[in-house]
Amino acid sequence: MVVHAKFFFNEMVRIANSCDHSYDGVFFYAVKTTGIFCRPSCKSRCPNKENITFFQTAEDAKQAGFRACKRCQPDMVNFDPKMDLINDTKAYIQENYTENLTLKRIAQNIGISPYYLGRLFKEHTSRTPRTYLENLRVRKAVHLLKNTDMSTIDICYEVGFQNASSFYHAFQKQTQYTPQQYRKDFSYDL
Ligand SMILES: [Zn+2]
Repeated sequence: MVVHAKFFFNEMVRIANSCDHSYDGVFFYAVKTTGIFCRPSCKSRCPNKENITFFQTAEDAKQAGFRACKRCQPDMVNFDPKMDLINDTKAYIQENYTENLTLKRIAQNIGISPYYLGRLFKEHTSRTPRTYLENLRVRKAVHLLKNTDMSTIDICYEVGFQNASSFYHAFQKQTQYTPQQYRKDFSYDL
């Protein structure tokens, strides 16, 4: 694709540098110095503007002599880079669930807008990031209730809930028990 207008060129450079997933499949960019081409969302190092060239299809890029990036696999039709994003989100939540995580903070770390992340996550996992986070926290709380003698309020904060009522609410919704009932009924080993 020959991009004449400077505006569009700059806009595409901006997209490539922001790793924006919403343009995957719309165009590809290649880096002259490395001989490799990528999807716009690729998280590989951002190249200099002078070294970038754009293509409309992966085939065009290949014919111009570029090789497909191993990370974003732009030549694989069925490869879904969105799944990469979902997995990154899950990994981020798993590593940081004890902290006060907001959708905004998660999205900032993943590098996309909160709105887009929320929509994409729901679409692929049928849960919102918040529900995923809550499920994870409740699972950790269950583990602590069964295997430690920590108080329920300590467990509440330990697994990242900001207050007791949201802990109770989430716990009951998922297990049908209050944390105290759960411990009483399932901790006979202690
Ligand atoms: Zn790539």
